[in-house]
Amino acid sequence: MPLSFDTIFATLPSTFYTKMSGEVITDNPYLLHFNPELCELIGLENSFFDDMKSLDYFIGKNTFPGSDSLAMVYAGHQFGQYVPQLGDGRALLLGQIIGMDGKHYDLQVKGAGLTPYSRMGDGRAVLRSSIREYICGEAMYQLGISSTRALGIIATNRPVIRERIEPGAIIVRIAESHIRFGHFEYFHYRNDYKNVAILANHVIEHYYTNITSTKNRYVEWFQEITARTATLIAKWQAVGFCHGVMNTDNMSILGLTLDYGPFGFLETYNPTWICNQSDHSGRYSYQNQPIIAQWNLYALAHALQSVIPIHQGLEVVADFDRLFKKSYEHEMAQKLGFNTPNASINLLWQRLLTLMQHASSDYTLTFSDLLITDKFLTHFKDKEQATQWIYTYEKLINEEKKNGNTFTPKNPRYVFRNWIAEKTIRAVEDNVDLSIISEILTMLNSPFEKQEKYEQYASKAPEQWQNLNISCSS
Ligand code: AMP
Ligand code: MG
Repeated sequence: MPLSFDTIFATLPSTFYTKMSGEVITDNPYLLHFNPELCELIGLENSFFDDMKSLDYFIGKNTFPGSDSLAMVYAGHQFGQYVPQLGDGRALLLGQIIGMDGKHYDLQVKGAGLTPYSRMGDGRAVLRSSIREYICGEAMYQLGISSTRALGIIATNRPVIRERIEPGAIIVRIAESHIRFGHFEYFHYRNDYKNVAILANHVIEHYYTNITSTKNRYVEWFQEITARTATLIAKWQAVGFCHGVMNTDNMSILGLTLDYGPFGFLETYNPTWICNQSDHSGRYSYQNQPIIAQWNLYALAHALQSVIPIHQGLEVVADFDRLFKKSYEHEMAQKLGFNTPNASINLLWQRLLTLMQHASSDYTLTFSDLLITDKFLTHFKDKEQATQWIYTYEKLINEEKKNGNTFTPKNPRYVFRNWIAEKTIRAVEDNVDLSIISEILTMLNSPFEKQEKYEQYASKAPEQWQNLNISCSS
């Protein structure tokens, strides 16, 4: 079945990209895993990857008819410093496909070789970080969190030099768009306001189709970007996800979780947790994520000031606090099983978080064991205070039930903990067990349901997987 390519990004002026094809990889690459659901979504037959020749499309040996591959240019604030030129340094947009749902999807390879935007890099990606991204995109999606996803992962068999020599890989990413805040910054700081407007129009026309007003169009659009970002970060916080590198070039204009690097899920509840070992100041710590998201939106407001007067842009971003709070309170109320937040419910989860912090409780498991009193209590040192908390909780449950509000706490039992990622990586790299990717994905496909088979993964890092060093190196 031919894919229905319609590469709308290539209709933008040539200053937005460099048209090129990927480096040819000849070192006997092989497919590690693929996602049948995404194959179906973009119109690939399930048997597509049965044929080894199919890999050729992703390793520079063949091109899909109608595709139009290119590397995008963008810029960004990295750890607060403006870098005037970044871009797809190791990624290529093979083309955009009209999916079975009528939406456009980027078909993007990451780790595909050098591009004009590679700077000092080698254009490659290591197997380790590719496995992390491949699985985590899916884990987030199943948790109901907007994210890029991946069609497949290919082991390239090419060595990649990092702190050590490592095996390389390519992942094939699928997302409605990989456009970042940094795309706008690139043109703004070059005083190329015409292209800022062209890109804004492109994004609105194709991805914010609900915005129909002509008068207030850009402001409405920016309000929605701000709202989507606030919702995304609220969901990250609620599930205990820490991105690790919230630079503006890693912020999706569509509010997707984008560019998985040194991310992590909270184990011990510690709001100051820094998941990225390269983040020495803790700029991107778990608790800083909302304020950093807002900082990034301010950076975007600056980059959009040629289409939105700055005072209006800043006003929009100032509303982030309210939007985030609303969304986060909603998420936290749901974790306790309440439909709508109120002051008592807010106090209740705030108190719980304080107790969890004192007890170094496991964030995921404490919420997951909420309704099983004896198990729940094992997560606390001060049993008396925890029991008191349960008492208050039960009182509120009864009140809510009396008001006819249904009660279904929604908490994942399984998240993609760093130790699980590490165990998977070790098994694949050492060729011990390639089936582990399927196993972990099966578990993470139903994160909210208890699965006896996978209970070993509902746990803090066992001793052998403790003190992992997860850095920017990828
Ligand atoms: P990241 O930290 O992965 O979000 O990447 C930041 C920038 O560096 C982006 O422009 C990437 O394309 C680029 N980059 C990261 N790693 C490499 C690499 N190995 N080769 C070339 N460019 C890279
Ligand atoms: Mg990036």
